[in-house]
Amino acid sequence: MVRHREPIIAIATPYGESAIGMLRMSGAGLWEKVEKHIQLKGKLKPRYAHFFRLMDGDQLLDEGILIYYKAPHSYTGEDMVEMYLHGNPLVLKRALEVFLKEGIRLAEPGEFTKRAFLNGKLDITQAEAVADLISAKTDLARQVALRQLQGELSKHINPLRERLIELLAYVEADIEFAEQDIPTIEKEQLLELLTLIIESIKNLLSTVKAGEFIRRGINLAIVGKPNVGKSSLFNALLGTERAIVTHIPGTTRDFLQEQMHLGGIPINLIDTAGIRQTKDEVEAIGIKRSLSALESADLVLFVVDASNPLEEEDWEVYNLIKQKDHIKVLNKMDLGLDPSMKKIFPDGVCVSAKTGQGMQELKKLMLEKAGVFGYDGMMVYLSVRHGELLRKSLGVLEPLLQRLKVEDLSPEILALELREALSYLDQIVGAITTEDMLSEIFSRFCIGK
Ligand code: GDP
Ligand code: ZN
Repeated sequence: MVRHREPIIAIATPYGESAIGMLRMSGAGLWEKVEKHIQLKGKLKPRYAHFFRLMDGDQLLDEGILIYYKAPHSYTGEDMVEMYLHGNPLVLKRALEVFLKEGIRLAEPGEFTKRAFLNGKLDITQAEAVADLISAKTDLARQVALRQLQGELSKHINPLRERLIELLAYVEADIEFAEQDIPTIEKEQLLELLTLIIESIKNLLSTVKAGEFIRRGINLAIVGKPNVGKSSLFNALLGTERAIVTHIPGTTRDFLQEQMHLGGIPINLIDTAGIRQTKDEVEAIGIKRSLSALESADLVLFVVDASNPLEEEDWEVYNLIKQKDHIKVLNKMDLGLDPSMKKIFPDGVCVSAKTGQGMQELKKLMLEKAGVFGYDGMMVYLSVRHGELLRKSLGVLEPLLQRLKVEDLSPEILALELREALSYLDQIVGAITTEDMLSEIFSRFCIGK
């Protein structure tokens, strides 16, 4: 089962001075190559920490700790060596060169994990989770990645695959025993099973957006005509005095960006320039840039000055964003609400950027709108790749169900369609892989993992 590929090496710790730096190697015939360059006290024992000296010819390079893992009991499933040396880039570079000269090649990003996958140590969703875990920006993202590393996502996908395989078995029996009088699946039952599978896929798909937000964060743009309190709101959300606030309309000439965390979700907060018609050239440039920032926003806070009636300029901005996911923020409530306000925007949230009133409610609403409110990390979150494959599967199964409701299909056609739907689920867990898919997944990794 385990294939032994040519030996590879990488520095697995970050570049720079540190207490310890680690060199990692994996592959066939590794020990013979390593042995030539080290002095070891006592006999080598797999998975034991050995004190050792690293030699470059007869010159001492460093001393440290070495662990040897014998296949298949290692991360990659191959023979592996880990060397813990002094964490100076010069030391690690010299050590690396010794082994490169020995014919051990430099590992590509994610190559260790790729081998672990190819040797059946991890399924592909777990391998993806390794990269997610390393790059997680918040504690929630870390927890989600860890759960996926434990195989949580496959636990949701595999039962679906099994149901499809079961269905396929019935249909194929139908083909094989067409002539004989063997009872096969009833149409009723077929429709029922298909509906069930489709529902489960849809359920999983509903986590894709939230999963994206947890992994990469939410782009949240604050928009509105000048002087409604966008910059004040930006500061109130961040809890700092980052953006310049003045009472002269058009002060924010460009857009400002700051990172914040809300309920474990990274949020990229964008304060746009007041969007309006202007003759001022500099302001016009700012507005243009604001509009493009708006385009990449996942969620928009549309701010109005609720203490005054709305003006034409408010509607101009509103028309720009009304198609996007947005929250209507009725600001300056401390000055009293204009009576028209609750009629025009009954779903608006009243706040005061000045006094902080309503800010908690606004924050909660932001998470609700993004579909990530109250998730305590008990769920799985699909990545874009998983989402695409599930959607492809659905793209086969849904039309199939519709057709089956109105006509009878030959078992041959049925089997063909089911097999296609299954192949997409297989790709999610890596039961089927393509070279493109693997290189895309593993190129996201850092070297040494
Ligand atoms: P922007 O042009 O939309 O970014 O608006 P600013 O944040 O620069 O605010 C414009 C003016 O409104 C400033 O004088 C702020 O102090 C004031 N302002 C902003 N929010 C509030 C609020 O909630 N209540 C009151 N009373 N004034 C506010
Ligand atoms: Zn501003």
